[in-house]
Amino acid sequence: MNTDIFASLEVWFVVGSQHLYGPEALEQVAANGAKIAAALDQSPQLPVQVVFKPIVTTPEEVYNVCQAANSAADCIGLIFWMHTFSPAKMWIAGLQALQKPFAQLHTQFNAEIPWATIDMDFMNLNQTAHGGREFGYIGARLRAARKVIVGHWQDAEVLARLDVWMRAAAAWHDMQGARFARFGDNMREVAVTEGNKVSAQMQFGYAVNGYGVGDLVEKVNAVTETAVSDLIAVYEDSYTLVPALQADGARRQSLRDAARIELGMRAFLEEGGFKGYTDTFQDLHGLKQLPGVPSQRLMADGYGFGAEGDWKTAALLRAMKVMSAGLAGGTSFMEDYTYHFSANGDKVLGAHMLEICPSIAAATPRLEIHPLGIGGKEDPVRLVFDSQTGPAINASVIDLGSRYRLIVNTVDVVPTDEPLPRLPVARALWVPQPNFKEGVAAWILAGGAHHTGFSLSLTAEHMEDFATMAGVEYLLIDEHSTLAEIKKELKWNDVYYHLGLGIR
Ligand code: MN
Repeated sequence: MNTDIFASLEVWFVVGSQHLYGPEALEQVAANGAKIAAALDQSPQLPVQVVFKPIVTTPEEVYNVCQAANSAADCIGLIFWMHTFSPAKMWIAGLQALQKPFAQLHTQFNAEIPWATIDMDFMNLNQTAHGGREFGYIGARLRAARKVIVGHWQDAEVLARLDVWMRAAAAWHDMQGARFARFGDNMREVAVTEGNKVSAQMQFGYAVNGYGVGDLVEKVNAVTETAVSDLIAVYEDSYTLVPALQADGARRQSLRDAARIELGMRAFLEEGGFKGYTDTFQDLHGLKQLPGVPSQRLMADGYGFGAEGDWKTAALLRAMKVMSAGLAGGTSFMEDYTYHFSANGDKVLGAHMLEICPSIAAATPRLEIHPLGIGGKEDPVRLVFDSQTGPAINASVIDLGSRYRLIVNTVDVVPTDEPLPRLPVARALWVPQPNFKEGVAAWILAGGAHHTGFSLSLTAEHMEDFATMAGVEYLLIDEHSTLAEIKKELKWNDVYYHLGLGIR
């Protein structure tokens, strides 16, 4: 997914102050605020444009800018900075009305104290150290969901924190009103892919609706032979085709069938304005193959996908695609498939029946055809490859009945010990943090699904910021985690969210 998705989006930069200091000081506050906003706007480290707003000095001005942000279609969030002291009772009405995410940038215009010349004028202009605390109090008092970023505004680490927050805000913005299509229900008798779609829409802002697979088949059948041939030319340019799928190969027709399914799915998704979808091998009536390469390529273009009707993972993957737009690495639907227990270290082999996104591929994928043991359809065409290696995350959203929990595990993706010449699916091999045994035990105790959003592009911080915006439980299993602490956190979270969310 490329960064076009960020092109029209805005983050508003709002500076809080008060009238106590006189018009001259306020002019200086506004000038300094505009300078910081412009620097952030022009920073190549930040993906979204930053728009400077007039400074706010009264409850009415605070309220008005918050309401304006609510109704500004392209505003994905606000950065608040207290250059001076801004008495925070002024902020109550505005923050209570605000429906967009916000971050508190706790910075100071001047980096260093001018030791030889500092006087009370300097002190009264550079009041972030206490002004930001007054603002922090009202955020805490209101239990406002927010990110606090501390440091000088030219500090690369501060920009990195802002980048992560902006990407999360863009994904949250993208999710509001998003539509996800389900072809068929979820896999029969499976528990973790179930969930309450009304609750999900209330919590996350996206809608999930079912469509007859026959409606999709209609689109597939309407695809022209010319369009199929054109897409096959793209396949030939992009991948290495096994001989059976090449121009005079014995299985060439299966490749044409797969290309036709891809074009039909694209037409359906584009016409319906969908950002992702699910399918299931148990409901393919009228489709010749379970979509393999079609789902892989749709994921690569940024569509959320969940196999076996897993709509929660489809929506999560879409958010992860938006957050990772333009970043190195890659992001895919994933499943913990098989273990490697070894004296050299225990590992997880991640894969799926077919649907792993080629954005994570280490080298040019091979386009192959193999039988599929389930579903009773013709052999599906799929892209086969090893993933890139390096730090990555697995993320899962589960429905606990009264709330959602977002579980994130940081993992280290490693090369396979040996080649896998007979494995007909794309795969990744990783070691969960803090180590295999504790990481996996923590994931299972937390109820994390076998399906995940897997990303070599994102960090746990992206997911934490996103969970904060969504107002859902966030459980991190990383290199600092211990099983004993995770067990306690799970119990505490049950109580906290039971009380904090109330009856909904
Ligand atoms: Mn699965």
